[in-house]
This record gives sequence, C-alpha cells and structure tokens, in this order.
Amino acid sequence: MSELNPQQQAAVTTTDHPLLVLAGAGSGKTRVITEKIAHLIEQRGLEARRIVAITFTNKAAREMRERVQGRLAREQARGLSVSTFHTFGLNFLRRELQAAGLRAGFSILDPGDCRQLLREITYRDDTGSEVDALVGHISRWKNDLMTPAEALHEASQMTDAPEAIAAANLYPRYEDALRAYNAVDFDDLIKRPVDCLRDDPELRNRWQDRIRHLLVDEYQDTNSAQYQLVRLLVGVSDGLTVVGDDDQSIYAWRGARPENLVRLQDDFPRLEVIKLEQNYRSTNRILHTANALIANNPHVFEKRLWSALGEGEKIEVIGCSDADTEAARVVSELMRRRFRLNAGWGDFAILYRSNHQSRLFEKLLREQGIPYRLSGGQSFFEKAEIKDLVAYLRLLANPDDNTAFLRVVNVPRREIGPATLEKLGHYANQRGTSLLQAARGAGLSEYMDARAQARLERFTDWIDGFQRRGAEESPDVLLRALVEDIDYESWLLENSPNPRAATRRMDNVREFIDWVGRMGGANTTAEYGDDEAEDTRSMGLADIVNRISLMDILDRNRDSQDGNESVQLLTLHTAKGLEFPHVCLVGFEEELLPHRVSVEDDSIEEERRLAYVGLTRAQQTLLITYAQSRSRYGESIDCEPSRFLDELPGEHLDWPDAKPPDPETQQLTARAHLAGLKAMLEK
Ligand code: ATP
Ligand code: MG
Repeated sequence: MSELNPQQQAAVTTTDHPLLVLAGAGSGKTRVITEKIAHLIEQRGLEARRIVAITFTNKAAREMRERVQGRLAREQARGLSVSTFHTFGLNFLRRELQAAGLRAGFSILDPGDCRQLLREITYRDDTGSEVDALVGHISRWKNDLMTPAEALHEASQMTDAPEAIAAANLYPRYEDALRAYNAVDFDDLIKRPVDCLRDDPELRNRWQDRIRHLLVDEYQDTNSAQYQLVRLLVGVSDGLTVVGDDDQSIYAWRGARPENLVRLQDDFPRLEVIKLEQNYRSTNRILHTANALIANNPHVFEKRLWSALGEGEKIEVIGCSDADTEAARVVSELMRRRFRLNAGWGDFAILYRSNHQSRLFEKLLREQGIPYRLSGGQSFFEKAEIKDLVAYLRLLANPDDNTAFLRVVNVPRREIGPATLEKLGHYANQRGTSLLQAARGAGLSEYMDARAQARLERFTDWIDGFQRRGAEESPDVLLRALVEDIDYESWLLENSPNPRAATRRMDNVREFIDWVGRMGGANTTAEYGDDEAEDTRSMGLADIVNRISLMDILDRNRDSQDGNESVQLLTLHTAKGLEFPHVCLVGFEEELLPHRVSVEDDSIEEERRLAYVGLTRAQQTLLITYAQSRSRYGESIDCEPSRFLDELPGEHLDWPDAKPPDPETQQLTARAHLAGLKAMLEK
C-alpha cells in the first residue's frame, strides 16, 4: 500500500462513495482494483464472498485472483468472485435457475451453435453472410436489452429495413427455440440476469444485500446490458468502483458504449472521480508518442500522463518490401534484441490488427525454433468440425449429454425439426430424462406424429448401434467408421463457404481421428503432460472425452509454465490491459490499421484508439513495421503506411533503413540476417 501514489491510495480507500477512476494506460488502474479488494477484506473486514470483481478476459480474471490470493491468507480470500461479465452471469443463472426460466444442466450455445440454430429455424442452408447478419442483429438487440416488439419497431426504421425486419421476426422464434433446448447464448448470460434483477424485487434485494462492493475493470468497454447489470447489482449502495480509460474503448463493434462513463455521473449522483497521472509502465518516448497519437481524437475527459522511467530508446520504424520480408525482419529483430538487451523470449510480444496476420510470423518462429504462444486465435478444439465430432463422442460416452445431442442430431440433416425437438424437450422434461432417453420413449406418440417419431427412432437406433460397437472397437476406429457412416465429408462440402475450406476442415477431421488414435494407444498418454506419464493403460472413449473437456485446464497450466518463455502473438484487442517489455506492432498500414472496414464505416477514431492500445503495451522498446506489398487471394497488392504513422512525433522515431531498399536485396538481407543470428545464438 505504501508504494501507491496519493491518488491511487485515495481510490483504494474511498468506500463511502461510488467511485470512477479515470486514467490513461499504464497508470495503475488495474492495480487499484487488486489493492482495493485486499483493502476491503483486510482493513474494512468485508467477507470475500461479498466482493465481486469483473475483468474483461478470463486471463485477466485469473491473474487478478492469483494476485489477491498472494496478498491474503487463503481463508480470507475464500468466496471472492473475480470473473468476466459472462462468467459472472453464468454463475448467477446457475443459482437462479427458476427465475431465469432454466433447468439444471442448461447448455451454453456459442456463436457457431447459434448460427446453426437459426439455420434450423429458417430451414436455410446458407452458411454465409445472411445468417451472420441475422445473428448480428439479434445479438445487438439483446445487448441493448430490447424485447422482440421493440426490436421490430427499431428494425422498421433502419436503413436495411427489410433484412432487419426479417431478423426481428425471427427473434421471438429464436428465443422460443432456446427455451425449448434449455439453452442460452452468450448474450443471455448478461441479459437474463438483468431481466431477473429488474423483474423480481425479492431476488434483487437478495443480490444487492449480498454484494457489498462491485469493482469493474476496463469499464469503457461495457455495453448497455452490462451497464444495467452493474446498476441493478449495486442499487443505491455506495459499493461501486469502476476504472477505465475512454481512449482505450475498442469494442464499439460489440455494442460497447464509452458514454457509459458519462452516464455514471447521472445515475450515481454521489459519484466521485479520481484521475491518475503517473504512468508506471512505459518510457517517456513511448508515452509521448502514444499521447501524441491519441491527441488527434476528441476527448471526453482530459488526461495528462508522465512517467519516471526515463527517456528510453527511440521507437524504430521499419518499412519492408512485402509481408514475408516483414516477418523475417521482425524475427531477426527479436533475435537481435534478445541478445542485445539480454531478454527472454517471454519479454516480447508481436501485436497485429487481425487474426490472419499471425500466420507468417508463426511459420517463421516455428522454423527458427523460437517458442511462441498464440492468443485470441481459434484453438483446434474450438473448430466447428472438431466440436461436432467431440459432441458425437460425448453422446456415445454419455447419452444424457443434451448439448451434445442437440449439436449432432441434425448434423448431418435428419429432418428432426425445432417443433419436434421442442415436443421432445417437453416430454423429456416431464419425465425428468435426457433427450436421447426421451427419444426412445413409447409415450412419444401422444406428443408428435408418427413420422417425426420414426425419425427420432432411426437416430436412437443408430446411436445404440454405435454404442455397441464402441464396446468392442478402439475409439479412433469407431470415430472413423462414424465419420464415414454419416458421410460427414459431404456435409462439410455443403456447409463450408467454398470447397477449399471444406477440404481444410476434412483435414482437421483426419488430424483429430489420428489424435484420438494416439490417445487410445497404449503408450502415448504421456503426451498429455508429465503427470500422466505412468498411466499407460489404453484409454477408452470416456477417458478421451473427459480429457478433451479438461483440455482448457491442461492448456492453461502449460501456458503459465511456458508463457514466460514464449514470444506472445496477440491481436490488439486481446492485448488490452497487458504489458510487455518489448513490443513489435506489425502491419502498420492503411487497410490493416486502420482496418479497411473501419475506413469505409468512418470509424477511424476507434482504430486510433486501437493503435493507442498497441503502443501503450510497450514498457521499454517498441518496433513498428509495415509492408509495401502483400498478397491477397494470390495477387500482390500495394500497401501504404498507416496514416497514424504521420501522427507520431518525428523526434521519438528512428528509421534504421531510412528508405526501404529494393525488394530483392531486402529479402536477401533479412534472410541472411536470420541465418547469421541463428548461428551466433547457437554457439
Ligand atoms: P491499462 O490502461 O493498460 O489497463 P492500467 O492503468 O490498468 O493500464 P496497471 O496495469 O494497473 O495499469 O499498471 C501498469 C504497471 O504499473 C503495472 O506493471 C503495475 O504493477 C505498475 N504499477 C501500478 N501502480 C504502481 C505504483 N504505485 N508503483 C509502482 N508500480 C506501479
Ligand atoms: Mg488495466
């Protein structure tokens, strides 16, 4: 506590007013939240379970929890809730099943599942932009807490009215389907708690009574529903601390409302505002450069930041002839800096605007044997095709897994429509059985016509058959037979945007089958981590399915061990709130940053904030690169340096290759550079 500056101390000890801490990047806002939790428990004697902290990512939540636990005795921290809005919502719904109109074991549908659900409702086959647009509309309405009627009203006044009205008409049917499936989507994790708290005074009192202090990090990126959740949880109490930076609001496209910062002053008249002015993260050159950039945006609140960390090195800017050269140059710079600054791989981060930009860097890092970790990308097990197959395995291993049942029942199409599933859901509900059990039920004939029943029966017979085979065959053999039997390859062809994507997805399927084979093999369980090294018995279906469910946890453990030793590859969005000694901001070009879509939509300010977030992640050194050409769909396209480059103050920039040399020489030099450095490091 003694290390905190006076403003931070004030923020930590102010508990008799709702509090907004508004300050620029690296000024210790997140630190204030951590310290304040400890202060509330230790100094104010608040029970940990009466404190709720909300962070923006699971990773941030994990780190904050660890930090608080490190400060306190184990007993003291028990029951503390630190999570994202979504996880908080999930826990809320688990406790308030009845009020939320849910049953135990409800499923959470991810956006891919939601698209599938809409396809089922509309009997449409398209995978492309139309369904995406529907999902987008509905999601936005839910984030704005609009009922279907309100949505319809709004839709009729929108520029794309016909499409929006179609979406608004689907909205209630979509909600009905979710109810029938005993399922929620991601937006419901916020919206349903808000509905419960708003409509049920007893429940609201109970929650307001329980939560004595609510703390929210990255507050500038809350959307309307999240803001209402905060309001309803806090009520008229003073136990609210939110911290944020309007210059770092980068989720407008997901419904974030930076004006929620201003609204606080209206909704909480007793609100106190504290500003922090010392930056503890970056050198002054980095800080001034970032401040100069963001000064081009209009400001709600003025902020000044200073740093006691010295002037620091100039920011290097390197123009490269093309994307390959950029990757080679960045990797060679990493090697050089690691050597020169005596740094570890974990001290470096490569930041980019869009996920696809990571590919070339990954490839090169792998080739050079440099450990790296990719965040924000889609993991193998999150791919739709893998999730389909995992769902099949789950259903075979555990027939009561309703999520799995719903995921696979119409993949491929089995003509089991939402109406049938709804009736099946009712039947299952009344008997308290799972959907698959219910589908076998003789009493079903009272609920649906013979054709629908016959289709269900065909499906259950088919599952039963594969279950019997599962008792005899090894999991990979079983899975291979299953993939062939359902002709999954054809289904992928029909449901992928193009044949190339289908081929790629089928490759993933084969890779997954091989993986299952290795898992099922007698001696390969060690692959799953050292703790398993002694377990060499062959793994059955249930073992493998459990293993996959635990994957997240296993990965996480591995992350935290290797994380310190790996170069981090992150999008600007996922880099929010983090810091790294050395940062490479790549693809600093028009069309990429600012992104082409944002230029068209006239949202340059949000792109500038993104660039600001990127620059302010760096503690000691910063490298900015851009390419003068990139290949897009096999064609080479000329690129221009980002307009933001012109907004950076020249006195803090260094251009090591004043003018980019001709492409061929540069490629050669970068490659030679890499080879030379590699040889040097290996010595
Ligand atoms: P961002 O806006 O990027 O989320 P932030 O305002 O949340 O940044 P923090 O991440 O909390 O900033 O702090 C930035 C760095 O400064 C961290 O390494 C933190 O530990 C350190 N720091 C914060 N306050 C102090 C302090 N009083 N003394 C020393 N270091 C501090
Ligand atoms: Mg922070």
